[in-house]
Amino acid sequence: MNKYKQKRTKIVATIGPASESEEVLKKMMQSGLNVARFNFSHGEHSWHKQVMTRVRKVSEKLNVNVGILADLQGPRIRVAVEKEIVVKSGDKIKICEIDSKSKKDNSIDAKIVYLDKKNILEGLKKGQDILIEDGLIKLRIIKNNKKSCQVKVIDGGIIRNHKGVNIPGANLDIDVITTKDKKDLDFALKNDVDFVALSFVKNAKDIKRLRKIIQKKKKSHYPQIIAKIERQEAIDNLDEIIKETDAIMVARGDLGIEMDQSRVIILQKEIISKSIKCVKPVIVATQMLNSMIDNPRPTRAEVGDVTNAIIDHVDAVMLSGESATGKYPTESVSIMSKIIEKTEESIYDDIYEALDYKIKSEYAVVVKSAYELAKSFDAEAICMISISGFTAKLVSHFRPEQQILVATNNKKTFNQLSLLWGVDCYLFEKQKNLSVFIDKLVKKAKNDKKLEKDDKIIIIIGRSPAGKKMRLIGVKKISN
Ligand code: PGA
Ligand code: MN
Repeated sequence: MNKYKQKRTKIVATIGPASESEEVLKKMMQSGLNVARFNFSHGEHSWHKQVMTRVRKVSEKLNVNVGILADLQGPRIRVAVEKEIVVKSGDKIKICEIDSKSKKDNSIDAKIVYLDKKNILEGLKKGQDILIEDGLIKLRIIKNNKKSCQVKVIDGGIIRNHKGVNIPGANLDIDVITTKDKKDLDFALKNDVDFVALSFVKNAKDIKRLRKIIQKKKKSHYPQIIAKIERQEAIDNLDEIIKETDAIMVARGDLGIEMDQSRVIILQKEIISKSIKCVKPVIVATQMLNSMIDNPRPTRAEVGDVTNAIIDHVDAVMLSGESATGKYPTESVSIMSKIIEKTEESIYDDIYEALDYKIKSEYAVVVKSAYELAKSFDAEAICMISISGFTAKLVSHFRPEQQILVATNNKKTFNQLSLLWGVDCYLFEKQKNLSVFIDKLVKKAKNDKKLEKDDKIIIIIGRSPAGKKMRLIGVKKISN
């Protein structure tokens, strides 16, 4: 039950043509947007740069904490056809991999469906399905000639250029970090994004490689890495991925095509509970309010979907087409906020006791003590100084009823805490005297009506960069 004004679950919204203007960004931020997602599957760098700058400008003007996420496309296979091809169920057609020769010779056959990546067809088997456009068109392989395949159309439709292709169960030998991703990553790092999401992650090695590339290109203030779980291999290697990454996205769009979709919500629940236990922020993504792309109100089933994710205590729920290209971008954010608010107010938000802590570090013990202290003293807030964000993350993962008020002097930490469940962060100049730092935080929180006289707060001082240990200061009553 949340008795505070502020919602605890965060909102990530994809920015696109429908939300690029200052006016819409402003409304979305005022309606509860916490993280702006830029999808590098679409748009030119010049567009991304312009709109990212706008997001920073508007959020500073409004004094709201909004993080920026760059979502890398990864090894997505796409259709490459010059003209649309209409296929009916029962038709037999040919699929080829596009090569530079056929491009150059202009020998592209209008009846053949080309794929834009190489070395894909070779490993496929007879009977395997190739899905196009979010799985709407289904083709089944009847003969594989390695460089081309004969397929039978199971579900027909119009095959259009650039549409996404999924091949469930295929162990594709394509690099998870593509040449395009490397260029987009360069751009994202230059523009100092707060999070980088990697699509179609297979294992922990992919995350390690991305981290290495980032650390080579940037000396400090690294963006956090979000592993998108959207294929069977990621499910198979879930534990090692969660261990290695900074955050997780349940990317239900592709996951629901790559796997049997009746399993997706159960997998979602499993990913959420594992992530929380490992102190890794987790986002639920795709189709949460999908019908709002066209309609001003979501379906009841969509409201139920968002409610369910909130009750499972995800850090953030995400909007894709709803906010990027839909007719109702600001309404999508405000309706999502309202669902969050109502769910968090309810008693069903409290049935959360999934954390069977296997406390290993002394930090976790300090934070657990703070959490217990807050409960037994009926405190209004757990207040802390957190420079790297580590302490704030540990506190947040307990999903306490109390407010989580954080003071930091690190702008990157400030931006990155935008994603964390229940965390409310304030940015201050560097303070030598730690108790002055806490006083400043309390004063700000009082100004914002988050605390008042006689409220009890719990105070923690996070690990200092100089290696000082985390300290639990104890309970304090707020005077005047
Ligand atoms: P995408 O990722 O929108 O980049 O495909 C999210 C998903 O697959 O759900
Ligand atoms: Mn995806």
